[in-house]
Amino acid sequence: MIRLLLFIVALMFVVRADPVGNANAVPSSPPQQARKLIAITFDDAPRAPGAFYTPAQRTEKLIAVLKENRVPQAAFFVNSGRVNIGDGDEARIAAYVAAGHVIANHSANHPRLMRTSAEDYLADIDIGEKWLKGRPGYRPWFRYPFLDEGGRDKVKRDAVRAGLKARGLRNGYVTVDGSDWNMEALAVAAVKSGKTLDMDAFRDLYVETHLQSAEFSDALMVRTIGRSAPQVLLLHETDIAALFLGDLIAALRANGWDIVSCDDAFADPIYNLMPDTPFAAGTLVEAMAWERGIKGQRWYDRNDMDVANPLFALRVLHEGAQ
Ligand SMILES: [Zn+2]
Repeated sequence: MIRLLLFIVALMFVVRADPVGNANAVPSSPPQQARKLIAITFDDAPRAPGAFYTPAQRTEKLIAVLKENRVPQAAFFVNSGRVNIGDGDEARIAAYVAAGHVIANHSANHPRLMRTSAEDYLADIDIGEKWLKGRPGYRPWFRYPFLDEGGRDKVKRDAVRAGLKARGLRNGYVTVDGSDWNMEALAVAAVKSGKTLDMDAFRDLYVETHLQSAEFSDALMVRTIGRSAPQVLLLHETDIAALFLGDLIAALRANGWDIVSCDDAFADPIYNLMPDTPFAAGTLVEAMAWERGIKGQRWYDRNDMDVANPLFALRVLHEGAQ
């Protein structure tokens, strides 16, 4: 009986103590953190053969990996001057669209604006538009080759900006860049010269680099405008995207990112900005940070080949170890 009473008293104490305890307690689960958002884009479609697949295999694998990882919509920025009718390039681009993705202009022949007149540059864009417009999945976005908006030549920069506007095109900005094109080039060169690649290490380097770049851009965006914004990831239509994109998406999601469509990302008002910077090249978030005089580093350091190339040699080729 006494035991029962003691038990009841103890139980009452626990029940009564509970609200008192909760008053100062740390909530058992932290407040819902906002997920960071990122859209996926591929430049240079149709890109030349890489080191691992035929172009047809690459497209099949890329479409499968986008589907398996529930990517709502990716964008392929096309160089129409590199589409060779009859060898499957056009069919590969149509296959991306049939799988729910969109296509936009990356110029016809991939000129560098710093070395081209505004007139010639816009004429090349027009060739691209002629090829693209009217096709299913078309979006009126232009991705500058080399992310080169004319360098220090502001007259040229503004002429092309005005030319895009007159054509109803907007800048298909990039905010996250890990120079995957360089990794692809290093892999192609290594395979050509008969070297052995550590493919697990290559995957890890690819994933780590793009995840770091995304986190860097998100932090720089917050430093620049006081909030996160949907990021736009620059990749290229490469074999290594087909190989490693699934791992990259898993790593992004594990680190608080959600994949959004390009339509949703580009709907954020930051993508209407046209920053005025002393040197017009690079990602939008870098340019915004430049324009606002944000202190500290404004670019992701692995986009410097002097940083990226030794990492590839050391980790993927196991060369140059001290
Ligand atoms: Zn390109």
